[in-house]
Amino acid sequence: MQKLEQLYEGKAKKVYATDDPRYYIVDYKDDATAFNGEKKGTIVGKGAINNRVTNHLMQILAKEGIPTHFVKELSDRETLVKKVTIVPLEVIVRNIVAGSLSKRIGVAEGHKLQRTVLEFSYKDDDLGDPLVNEYHILAMGWASEQELKQITDYALRINEILRAYLADLNIDLIDFKLEFGKTPEGELVLADEISPDTCRFWDSRTGKKLDKDRFRRDLGDVEDAYQEILDRLLGR
Ligand code: UDP
Repeated sequence: MQKLEQLYEGKAKKVYATDDPRYYIVDYKDDATAFNGEKKGTIVGKGAINNRVTNHLMQILAKEGIPTHFVKELSDRETLVKKVTIVPLEVIVRNIVAGSLSKRIGVAEGHKLQRTVLEFSYKDDDLGDPLVNEYHILAMGWASEQELKQITDYALRINEILRAYLADLNIDLIDFKLEFGKTPEGELVLADEISPDTCRFWDSRTGKKLDKDRFRRDLGDVEDAYQEILDRLLGR
């Protein structure tokens, strides 16, 4: 597979064309941003860790019947993925109150939700990814009714699979963000990444944050926390 021109550069990844029109190559960067790009930095080794963490979790989900864009890990930082058109939504799944929800409803971080909460935001950096609901999504045609149902079902199922898997590794899955894409054949698949950049992971024994909040909030030990997640996933 030949890596061709760069198609896109995001905050944490670059996407390249390949000589096969069905596939793209994603290349994970060490760059870290928070607060919609206001805070910038580098987390040394993050790209390689997020590449491996994402691919590991996507393969677990695939085994459980969730279709994903993952095709093959090519190197430390590069993965071959199916070419998809991204549905312009961030799908947020929450088990425990944290982050923006804590601020929005005035409930302390760590409060256990009585049931899983799903939120959607419209992917638009200039607008700061505003929160939207099902009515906005259907009224704007960002997803069809059938796609939205499928996205909801997948998101809740992914939560159950990951929550159980991570619990065995003494990691509490607090919340996370998913993105979905559509293949040229019209199949809806899980895309983007699942990593300490996009999930909140708390050590279930100590409560230590093992995710990007260490960077966002200047808690220190950022690289170690990312490495700790990868080590636990790989049983090290
Ligand atoms: N998240 C993300 N990208 C975003 C916004 C949120 O990956 O653009 C993830 C974030 O890491 C957390 C979850 O989604 O695991 C919920 O984030 P929240 O809405 O609390 O926003 P934050 O506090 O991160 O601004």
